[in-house]
Amino acid sequence: MDADFDNKIQEIVSRVNIFDVVSDVVHLKKSGANFFGLCPFHAEKSPSFSVSPDKGLFYCFGCGTGGNIFTFLMKAKGMTFQDALEHLAKKTGVDLPKRRLTKDGAKKKELKTQIYEINALAAGYFQTIINSPEGKTALNYIRNERGLNRETIDLFKIGYAPDKWNGLANFFAGKGISNEWAEKAGLIAPRQSGGYYDVFRKRIIFPIQDIDGNITGFGGRILGNEEPKYLNTQETPVFVKGRTFYGMNITWPEVRRTGDVFIVEGYFDLIALVQSGINNVLAPLGTALTANHINSIKGYVKRAYMLFDSDNAGMRASERVLPLFFDSGIDACIVKLPQGDDPDTFVKREGASGFAEKLKNTQLLWEFYLNNMVSRSGPHPWKKSGAIDEILRLLSKVSHPVTRSIYVKEVAEKFGVKEQAVLHRLGTREITVKEDASVFLTSQNKNEKTLIYLMLTCPEEMLSLRNYIKDFESAELIPIAEAIFEIYVKEKAMDIDSLLGKIQDEKIRNIVVKIIFEGEQIDNSKTSIQSITRFFELKRIKDEEKRLTLELSRKQQTGNEDEWKGLLVMKHNLVKKKKELLKKAV
Ligand SMILES: [Zn+2]
Repeated sequence: MDADFDNKIQEIVSRVNIFDVVSDVVHLKKSGANFFGLCPFHAEKSPSFSVSPDKGLFYCFGCGTGGNIFTFLMKAKGMTFQDALEHLAKKTGVDLPKRRLTKDGAKKKELKTQIYEINALAAGYFQTIINSPEGKTALNYIRNERGLNRETIDLFKIGYAPDKWNGLANFFAGKGISNEWAEKAGLIAPRQSGGYYDVFRKRIIFPIQDIDGNITGFGGRILGNEEPKYLNTQETPVFVKGRTFYGMNITWPEVRRTGDVFIVEGYFDLIALVQSGINNVLAPLGTALTANHINSIKGYVKRAYMLFDSDNAGMRASERVLPLFFDSGIDACIVKLPQGDDPDTFVKREGASGFAEKLKNTQLLWEFYLNNMVSRSGPHPWKKSGAIDEILRLLSKVSHPVTRSIYVKEVAEKFGVKEQAVLHRLGTREITVKEDASVFLTSQNKNEKTLIYLMLTCPEEMLSLRNYIKDFESAELIPIAEAIFEIYVKEKAMDIDSLLGKIQDEKIRNIVVKIIFEGEQIDNSKTSIQSITRFFELKRIKDEEKRLTLELSRKQQTGNEDEWKGLLVMKHNLVKKKKELLKKAV
C-alpha cells in the first residue's frame, strides 16, 4: 500500500460514519459517548459490543474483536479488504483510481525502479558468466578455496564480472538499456575518449539486496592480487553506504526472531556462517559499522556479537564501534577468535558447534575495552590519567545520565581511583528531574498500555517513548508496541486507520483497538508523557538495583571485598537517585 492508497482510505473514513455501517448489522443503543449492541462475532445475551463514532472504531469487550469500518465489513460480511474499500468508495462517492504522484515524486520513483531493474539484469549477467567457461576460474575459486556449495552460490546470487572493458556495456546495449541509466546505477562509466566501460572487471560479484530483495548495488572482489581487493558500487539513489547491511534479505528474519546478531566484516564471513547454518548474521558494507547501521537494528536486536579478527586491527575496530552502542539498548559483545582466524576460516574448521562453544566465552565490549585500557596504561599514574581521559571522551557520548554514572563508577573501580575524581573530570552534573504534579500510575501493565496509547496519539514523541518498549514486562505488549513503531517509521506518520490496515495479525489489531478504547481517560498531554517517562526511568533504576543486590550477595559468597565494596557504593547511589526521583514526582 502506498501513500496514495492511504489518502484514499482516509478520505473514505472521513466521509463514512461507522455507526451507519455497523447498524446495518447490529442494533445499537447509545450509552455515553459510545453505542452498544449484541456482538455479531460471538454469542452473548447482554451487549458488550461497542462502537465509537468519534474514533471510528468498534470493540467487543466480550470476545476482544475490534477494528474499524474495513475490519467490520470484512468480518461481518466476509468481504476482502479490496471489496470493503470498493463498497465504501461507492457509498461515499470517493474516486478509487490512484491519484498521480507529483512529477518530482514520480521521477524519483521511476529512477529507483529503473535502477533496481538494471541491477537485476546485471546480476543475471554476472551469474550467467560465472556458470560459463569464462567464469570457470572464479567458480573454482569460490567452490574450492572458499568452500561454497551450489546452493549457497545461488542463494546469494554470486556472479563474476569478466576481465573485459565492455562485457556488461555490450550486454546492456544488446538489451536496449541506455548508457545514461546504466551509469546512474553505477555499473558503467564514461570513457574520456567517448563510449563507456565496465566498472566491475575480473571480480567476483556479490549483489547487495535490501530487505525486500531489490538489488541496490554490488560488491566485487578481485580475482587475483590486484588492488583494490574490494570494490563497491558508488553511491546511487538506491545505494547508500554506511546504512546498508550485506545479507539482510536472507538473514533478517532470523536476526529478528532471535534478537541476537553476529556482526562480521566481510562478504565471505557472512556467507560462510549462513552456509554453516548460522543465519543471524549481518555485515556492514564496505567500511566500518556506523550509527546509521545501529539505528536500523535498534529495537529488534538485544545482543550484538562482534566477530572481528583477533589481530590488533580487529581490537581497535572493536573500540571504535563501542560508542555506537551506548544508548542503543543493545548489549555489544566481542567474540575472540583464535589468532590468525577470521569467522570464515573458523566456522569452516570448527563448524556451527565449535562456533556455539566459542560463544560461551564472550565478553561485553565495554569490559573488553576497559580491561584493555587498564592493562595498556600499567601502574604509571600519568598513563592512567591519560587512559581515563581517553575513556571519558567516549563516555561523554552516553546521553543517559544513569547509564553514564554506572560506566563512570566502573572506570573508577577498574583504575582504583575515586569516583568523585572521575566525575569531576567528566564534568557531570547530577541528574535533575523537573517538578511534576501528575500521579504515578501503579499497575505495570497499565503503564505499558498508556505508553502504547501515547505512541498512537502523540507520534511526535514516538522516538523517546519507543525507548521503553524493551522495559515492558507484559510479553504480549512488546510485539504490539514494536509493530506500531515499525509502521510509524515506514509511514513517517501515525494514522489509526492505515495502521489497522497494516497490522496483519488480528490479535495484535484487537489489542490496539482495545488500548485506544480504554485510553479515553488518558490525557495525552506533555504531563502525561513526562509521568510515563518518569515511571519507566524509575523502573530501570529499580531493576538495576535488583541486579546489584543479586550481584552483591554473589560477591559476598565469593569473598572479593574490593568488588563488593564497589558494588555497595553503586547501590547506595542508585537508592539515592531513586529517592530523588520519587520525591520530585509526588
Ligand atoms: Zn464479541
